[in-house]
Amino acid sequence: MTHTFKGGVHPNYMKAPEVPISVVAPPAQVIIPMIQHIGAPCKPLVAKGDYVKLGQKIGESPAPVSAPIHASVSGTVVAVEPRPHPLGDMILSVVIENDFQETPCEDLKPLTEEELKDPDAILARIREAGIVGMGGAMFPTAFKIRSGLGKVDKLVINGAECEPYLNGDHLTMLNFPEQLLKGIELVRIASRVPVAYYGIEVNKQDAIDLLQSKDPAKYGIEIVPEAVKYPQGGEKMQIKAVTGREVKPGGLPAGVGATVISTRTCYAVYQACYEGRPVIERIVTVSGSALGHTSNALTRVGTPLGYLAEQCGGFVKDPRKIVLGGPMMGICATSFEAPTIKGTAGVLFFTEDEDKNIEDPQCIRCGKCITVCPMNLEPVFMYMYYSKGDFANMEKYHVMDCFECGSCSFNCPARMPLTHAFKTAKLMFQAKAAKEKAAAEAKAAKEAQK
Ligand code: SF4
Ligand code: SF4
Repeated sequence: MTHTFKGGVHPNYMKAPEVPISVVAPPAQVIIPMIQHIGAPCKPLVAKGDYVKLGQKIGESPAPVSAPIHASVSGTVVAVEPRPHPLGDMILSVVIENDFQETPCEDLKPLTEEELKDPDAILARIREAGIVGMGGAMFPTAFKIRSGLGKVDKLVINGAECEPYLNGDHLTMLNFPEQLLKGIELVRIASRVPVAYYGIEVNKQDAIDLLQSKDPAKYGIEIVPEAVKYPQGGEKMQIKAVTGREVKPGGLPAGVGATVISTRTCYAVYQACYEGRPVIERIVTVSGSALGHTSNALTRVGTPLGYLAEQCGGFVKDPRKIVLGGPMMGICATSFEAPTIKGTAGVLFFTEDEDKNIEDPQCIRCGKCITVCPMNLEPVFMYMYYSKGDFANMEKYHVMDCFECGSCSFNCPARMPLTHAFKTAKLMFQAKAAKEKAAAEAKAAKEAQK
């Protein structure tokens, strides 16, 4: 029996797990932004002219919601300055000239046998190794686990990888099954729960069979086969599919006693604890019609996107759009100079063929957007009120519960720009809230002066 959630769509998955993992040669310069996580930015610990070793910590913040950042090559720091960030803007970055010596930093040693059983030692290592949600959310993992302690009794490991194109999780399951199971076990110990439930879509049956053959129960892991449906990998969809619990609108996973950690994050936990290796590389699926083929490329953090495309065979057609992540929820990058970061699961180079925008689209009131929304929202009405700038009704229709999965846009025959509108509406709400807060604070300060 497979498990799933209500709603969702079936895009053309375009996956290529049969393409083996290739290793991208580290570039002559890596650009390492000091923001690669949700939360407080890191401050550089190095200056221009410093020599750094592979894996050395080069950025840190004392804030609890943050994650340190490490050098992905050895060499000399040639700049500490704002550089293009893959998610937009210019962000303070450490630029390292690679000496190609791969001189290792040995600050992080593998944990001892005793420490591998100690939740606090594991959590400290997860933090120190700079591990964040590597499915793309980039929330600091140690903070996520810590904040669920005492509230969470269901640990869900996300193996859906439902976004089209992306193969990194599937290949991690196939190539590193024991390491992955040990990583999940460490996350389970740190979370202080007896069982981790590993939800995997059945289009990865080869991986399910392989992991089952490694006796997952020995590690306190139960594998839960899931139906193939997008966005099965959404946090709330995973919780529903695996535990049957429903996170209500406005609610958080911890509110129903659940937390979700991604496959690749668990593998990073294995590397940090068993090998003493911080987050300095990951599998990035590099694809799209401008390239004409797919690579599943083990890529150093800080690799410029243009260099990555060259290393993956170069362009066969003019790229018009660079998408980071998958095509459904991915974000457009604006510069070939921008680097990969910890959360970069995919880089897609698309031509104009994939540009689906049409001028002046008209809603035909078919309701197809409503039937697929996994959050039970009514996109057609949300869009109508968005077009009128009607904040009160947008709120009434729970626009803030939209997690921008793109299912409604995908299913809309009129190609209405629904998801883009909701993304913009949410930013407008945030800006409005910030303005109201500033006005209230100014008023309170004025009152206090009287
Ligand atoms: S309204 Fe939001 S959550 Fe619902 S389908 Fe559209 S993008 Fe996904
Ligand atoms: S799917 Fe598109 S055309 Fe149909 S009701 Fe929704 S917005 Fe309108």
